[in-house]
Amino acid sequence: NAVLQLKNITKKYGNTLGVGPVEFDVEKGEFLTLLGPSGCGKTTTLHIIAGLLFPTEGTVLMEGRDITKVDPPYRDMGLVFQNYALFPHKTIYDNVAFGLRMRKVPKAEIRERVMRVLDVVGLPGVEERLPSQLSGGQRQRVALARAVVIEPTVLLLDEPLSNLDAVLRKRMRLELRDIQQKLGITTIFVTHDQDEAFEMSDRVVLMNRGRIEQLGPPEEMYDLP
Ligand code: ADP
Ligand code: ADP
Repeated sequence: NAVLQLKNITKKYGNTLGVGPVEFDVEKGEFLTLLGPSGCGKTTTLHIIAGLLFPTEGTVLMEGRDITKVDPPYRDMGLVFQNYALFPHKTIYDNVAFGLRMRKVPKAEIRERVMRVLDVVGLPGVEERLPSQLSGGQRQRVALARAVVIEPTVLLLDEPLSNLDAVLRKRMRLELRDIQQKLGITTIFVTHDQDEAFEMSDRVVLMNRGRIEQLGPPEEMYDLP
């Protein structure tokens, strides 16, 4: 029951190999992590899935349909990237409502969905505040709320916890996993942190030098550094 399929994907930057060839499926509702050292091709892979990069070779299928040439806004994906900041001068409500307004969702429904998602991420009552009035962990949860409120088919997370301090980072792992399970949303997570990957994931794609070295549930991975 694959939601997303990467078929024989390769990306070259001039003569530099970004990634590939790689091939894997993402199952409905699973939390899949791309794990590996800096430069192994995690971000390149995620950006190809998001439509921010076009592969040199290969195709991306979503629910069986070829989306390789579909532009990012039309891919039905929620994105939380490391440097994907909130709008600083907009309230939390307006930040979260942004994608729904773009999609011309009726006002009353926007209100209901924004309130519900802020509740799910554990931030009821913050809607009139500005991002600067929240802690780093709270802002990260708002970014997550903003990504999931549009009810995307797939959620893409690129090192979303890396700007947080160590203690908060650990706590947010559990929270993030909890939110993902509550929503039942298919999620692809990128990290170079093995503990993080093992604690959170249903399956891990272990990458090295642009290739997949292992792919499976954390308890079945072997010979790790
Ligand atoms: P990771 O996310 O695992 O750190 P990347 O996907 O960012 O890895 O990078 C994979 C490889 O592609 C690296 O060798 C990196 O230097 C190279 N690369 C990434 N982006 C570019 C780019 N815009 N131009 C040239 N090389 C790039
Ligand atoms: P990551 O944290 O994913 O490893 P980097 O900090 O390496 O990302 O890269 C940040 C940005 O620089 C990305 O947009 C990436 O595509 C680009 N980039 C990475 N490596 C290179 C490279 N060798 N040449 C040009 N651009 C690169």
